[in-house]
Amino acid sequence: MTGILRIALPVNLRRLFDYLPPRSLQSGTLTPGIRVRVPFGSRELVGILISLETESEVPENKLRPAHALLDESPILPPSLIKLTLWAADYYHSPAGDTFSQALPALLRQGYDLAREVHQFWQPAANLDTQAEQALLRARAPRQQEAWSLIKQHGDGISIEALKSMGFERPLLKNLENRGLIEPIEKAPEFQLFYEHEPLLKSSPYVLNEEQARALESITCEGEQFSATLLHGVTGSGKTEVYLQAIAHTLAKKQQALVLVPEIGLTPQTLARFRDRFNVPVVVLHSGLTDRERLNGWLSARRGEAGIVIATRSGIFTPLLHPGIIIVDEEHDLSYKQQDGVRYSSRDLALYRGRLESIPVVLGTATPSLETLHNSQTHRFRYLQLRQRAGNARPPVLELIDTRNQQMTGGLAPATLSAVKETLKQGQQVLVFLNRRGYAPTLTCDNCGYLIDCPNCDAHLTLHKTPLHLHCHHCDYHQGIPDQCPNCQSRELSPVGQGTERTEEILEQLFAPRENKRKGRVDVLRIDRDSMRKKHSFQETINKIHQGNPAILVGTQMLAKGHHFPAVTLVVIVNADTGFFSADFRGAEKTGQLILQVAGRAGRAEKPGQVLIQTGNPDNPQLQSLIHHGYDAFSQDILNQRRSIGLPPFSHIALITSEATNPQPVEEFLNNTAIVARELIEAENLGGPEGVMVMGPMPAPMERRQGRMRWQLHLQAPNRKPLHNLLYRLLPVMEQDPFTRKLRWSIDIDPQDMS
Ligand code: ADP
Ligand code: ZN
Ligand code: ZN
Repeated sequence: MTGILRIALPVNLRRLFDYLPPRSLQSGTLTPGIRVRVPFGSRELVGILISLETESEVPENKLRPAHALLDESPILPPSLIKLTLWAADYYHSPAGDTFSQALPALLRQGYDLAREVHQFWQPAANLDTQAEQALLRARAPRQQEAWSLIKQHGDGISIEALKSMGFERPLLKNLENRGLIEPIEKAPEFQLFYEHEPLLKSSPYVLNEEQARALESITCEGEQFSATLLHGVTGSGKTEVYLQAIAHTLAKKQQALVLVPEIGLTPQTLARFRDRFNVPVVVLHSGLTDRERLNGWLSARRGEAGIVIATRSGIFTPLLHPGIIIVDEEHDLSYKQQDGVRYSSRDLALYRGRLESIPVVLGTATPSLETLHNSQTHRFRYLQLRQRAGNARPPVLELIDTRNQQMTGGLAPATLSAVKETLKQGQQVLVFLNRRGYAPTLTCDNCGYLIDCPNCDAHLTLHKTPLHLHCHHCDYHQGIPDQCPNCQSRELSPVGQGTERTEEILEQLFAPRENKRKGRVDVLRIDRDSMRKKHSFQETINKIHQGNPAILVGTQMLAKGHHFPAVTLVVIVNADTGFFSADFRGAEKTGQLILQVAGRAGRAEKPGQVLIQTGNPDNPQLQSLIHHGYDAFSQDILNQRRSIGLPPFSHIALITSEATNPQPVEEFLNNTAIVARELIEAENLGGPEGVMVMGPMPAPMERRQGRMRWQLHLQAPNRKPLHNLLYRLLPVMEQDPFTRKLRWSIDIDPQDMS
């Protein structure tokens, strides 16, 4: 017997599956990393061969043979197989699910990579000279042309090349039938990225001292793992350091992988890479078709692409010669997947760097507390860029106390006069508000009733264009009721501010419609609703870049990756909600967002002003952020976390269960908590360094999308006992009969606990 195939399959069970080799093992060798088609129940699935074993827990007569091997050689390099298996283990997820994350959809579906050969046409081997004479006598000029072309290229012309000259398949078939030409298949020809000369298209800047030190530290060690936090305010020249580190990598014939947040990948960012380098740059993000994604993936794997720029799942992109991984805006929450395998691609980047012995750089203006802690405990190198590159000066932050003020559409008088002044000077204003729609609630003036979503514990948001009520958690829509559902009063009013309402008010104040004269101030709203149309985002950005006086009103879509050189005033409409959220990360994330938005201002020679409106100007965290900057702000929060033992000073696993019927949701987690406590006792996993079980308890948003949600928190100062508990606990949970009545999930290092 050739051995037993141990295979990862995309099914929701935390184990691998054993099969016998296919009955007719004609071609292909059994190498880990190839795809295998196997029977599973009455279905057929595509899995990945993980290892060859000599024994199985399944009796041999029960083992089924695989149907077919799909690849002749592994589709993933060993380092990525290790990374994927490590992710399955660390995130306690089925290995098959993790491989599904790692592979482009077409490969998961069994797409035949051998089809990646291209068709060429060449003169037939035993050419019929009489047929040639006949063709030359015939009145078939296009066929004669094609024939003479193919005859000149004895080693064949690709079908694409022929097509581009207007020779289509029927014409070629005709020549084939005449016995003149024949098709051949050849692997596509491609050029390795380092064969493009010269590597640089444009020359780099002369680095300032801090940048030079950073570059030296990142590149000094060559083929070795290192983790570096590159901490520098927006505009301090981090990207320039990345570009030069990449140039260094490419020169060693190694590739670079750059991770960016989901909405941070702007055409400007991409243009900076394409303008600097002659090597192909591949971009992988969620907006691609399956075919585009596969092409990008293949180009990285074959070494055609020198640079891969990718969002979250791009961490699984195989590289022929890996050389460096850069994670830009490492604090960004979009690096954490929020469903299925809940991995953090920033954290996987660090593990991958270790596996491939290459440097990993985490760049940000506002490091996450986890990353700060890692650099303070010397697991990461810490490099800081303190100055803005070039001449730009940092923006000035100022609090605007909104208490006892005559507010106009959520804006204080002092804010409005600053807006007016900025427009008068011909500059632009950015108004940031993290709420789309017109108003967050519609309320009854008579009885105070708020209109809620029927499926969620949430109020419905009022939208004006088109007019409707909308739930941002489950997408429920309804029209506007004529009267209060509670007291039948007809007096219903919007309460609070959304981007639509702020846009409306700013338009009335600064760009009244009756003012038709040329040079009217533009009020441009940028949020998910206004940008729904395919090209509207780019059109708006282009308009902003013309630099005429304008007010930009937007959500965090505006906060990332963009440079708005003409913006000199930034207004943060409400700094308070995030600071008082139930989530222990609320303050950290709000501080990061404020600085991120603030960083849009004054990037060129014009210094920026940032006005932060608050009803709690004495909030010590806000004070610390304004007066002492991010370092002091984050250190305060870090100290608090240490004193109460929250991450990064402890580790959390969050188990969530949900179903329309509340009863099993709670009972399932009650059972789980009992088993967990028993295991902790029996395995000695408790004590001061051990695991604490908290809950079960309702999730902060108990009802969402019509389902009741409960949570169980497992928390420990050390990872080891926590993971040891989970190895034992999860198989018990999988067997629980309640699992047929509900959905459950596990989230390691959860970022969003709602
Ligand atoms: P970050 O990525 O930290 O936001 P960038 O690398 O985008 O910063 O730099 C901000 C601006 O300064 C860019 O326009 C960049 O071209 C310019 N810049 C960066 N480094 C230098 C330098 N050493 N000399 C001159 N200009 C620089
Ligand atoms: Zn009412
Ligand atoms: Zn809802």
